[in-house]
Amino acid sequence: MKLPLPYEHKGIVVTDIDLKRVTAETVAETVRISQADPYLGMARMVSGGTAAIGSETQKITEVQGIIDAVREMPFCDVNFAVIHVLLEMNVPDAIDEASTCPKCGNVVAPDQDNPDTVSGLAVNTSETTEVIARTLAYPVEIKNAKGEQLELIEDVEIRFPTIHDCSRAARKVQRSNPGGLQLEILANAMTKGNGDEIDESWRARFAQILFRRLDPLDLADINRQTRLYGIEETVPKVCPKCEASWNEVVDLSGFFVSGLRALLG
Ligand SMILES: [Zn+2]
Repeated sequence: MKLPLPYEHKGIVVTDIDLKRVTAETVAETVRISQADPYLGMARMVSGGTAAIGSETQKITEVQGIIDAVREMPFCDVNFAVIHVLLEMNVPDAIDEASTCPKCGNVVAPDQDNPDTVSGLAVNTSETTEVIARTLAYPVEIKNAKGEQLELIEDVEIRFPTIHDCSRAARKVQRSNPGGLQLEILANAMTKGNGDEIDESWRARFAQILFRRLDPLDLADINRQTRLYGIEETVPKVCPKCEASWNEVVDLSGFFVSGLRALLG
């Protein structure tokens, strides 16, 4: 199947993934790894559920090659793949949460006969590899202790965060601080500042400071771009009482956890 967002790995533009049923060992390993690092847990599940990955003409099929390719996969693709590995295993995929009308407070029960399903969620795709770019509305100045300007950052370029970027951030920032975690992920994924490639020493000195000092307007635009591709995590709802319509957020990480539980029996 096509991945939502193509990405480059070892000179191949990776567009396709062929999934297979996972083994009991993959499920057990995913559960074990997820306790310490949910991102690596997802990566383990995807690696175990992948038969082949690559382009239409060049496929990687050996185990270590697949593990390496998944490690560099954008998070939106990993999220898509892990959900499809679970669907491949036929875990229940009805979205059976009740939702509350934001206008009148009426509690809308899920449709028992025709429920929303995870497999029915919309997927936003790109035909080409892409980066996240933003000319900052509020450039960030970084000074030394003497007050001299070290950097004035006006343009940033960020790769779509990979599972490795996310996992590295999760080792540093607590899960109880999702805002801080997101800033750390972006700092790890930053590739260019003012049009120049950045190296690891620049990243260590300036990237965290840069993202922490961003104006919320700039951060909101960057965050919006990170969500452009992959599974749409909302379903449209209409209130039968007052006819208000809204998009209800679907908890896909909850689906991952309950899917694993279903596989464990
Ligand atoms: Zn209502």
